[in-house]
Amino acid sequence: MKTQKDKALPCRPYMLHSPIEEKLFEPHTIYIKRDDLLSPEFSGNKARKFYYYLQNDFPHIKKIVSYGSNQSNAMYSLSVLAKIKGWKFDYYVNHLPSYLGENPHGNFKHALDNGMTIHVGEDVSTAMIKKSILFIEEGGREENAEYGLKILADEIAIWKKEQGIEALNIFLPSGTGTTALYLQKNSSDCVYTTPCVGDVEYLKKQFLMLEENEKNHPFILVPSKKRHFGKLYRESYNIWLKLQDKMGIEFDLLYDPVGWLILLENPEIFQKPTLYIHQGGLIGNESMLARYQRKYD
Ligand SMILES: *Cc1c(COP(=O)(O)O)cnc(C)c1O
Repeated sequence: MKTQKDKALPCRPYMLHSPIEEKLFEPHTIYIKRDDLLSPEFSGNKARKFYYYLQNDFPHIKKIVSYGSNQSNAMYSLSVLAKIKGWKFDYYVNHLPSYLGENPHGNFKHALDNGMTIHVGEDVSTAMIKKSILFIEEGGREENAEYGLKILADEIAIWKKEQGIEALNIFLPSGTGTTALYLQKNSSDCVYTTPCVGDVEYLKKQFLMLEENEKNHPFILVPSKKRHFGKLYRESYNIWLKLQDKMGIEFDLLYDPVGWLILLENPEIFQKPTLYIHQGGLIGNESMLARYQRKYD
């Protein structure tokens, strides 16, 4: 164990606390929970989801194994976790474009820099059976995520009280839905979300895998039209620019544009003070911006 220690990042108190800012996005006033500011390395909702592993000791674990897309924010955050813990990190992808293999950038590059070993087109199921392995589902969809997300819910409750706000509407876009689900489960306010990966049925199934009691499920706003996850849309890029221009905040390019477009289609939510959760993911913008530039120049 000692020999692994010098490989680890310096031990820092990774406090889970981020500010809430009041912003104007005409004609709405909105509060933004700046989880993108948690820490540059371990930021956004992945910091919350993986906080359990950061805070506890796992003496028998030597390696993290996970799988998913080749530019995933979860992949990058797991590479940071592995580095902090002095663990190895094996990540399985179905496919690696030759362009990315030859020119690593974005989350993929930063995860490689943190020591990630990439497996392309191999079967992950044979790798996960060993006792010394911590296996993390794609996107961090797992029950231990509740630990850090309860802290988020508690932080919001304390802030609400300080502000004298009686009832709040909370909104955040979903991938696996893990963040929205555990936030709703631990909050007395109404959590609204919308699916960015898959459709409403997919998101409901994701919720049910983690929580059978539907009373604890967030309220799903139905997208007005079908969008494909990771695909580039001019309206997504435009609203991303507008958000930055009007609020001075850089949002993520994968989930947030869809989130904001759907939120703005449901203005009745703003009848109560509304809190938008910024879930980080900004390192992923490197590769998304490069793709937007190649497409629209
Ligand atoms: C991972 C991620 C999401 C999706 O989180 P889930 O818990 O899977 O719903 C949303 N936004 C950003 C920026 C993310 O990195």
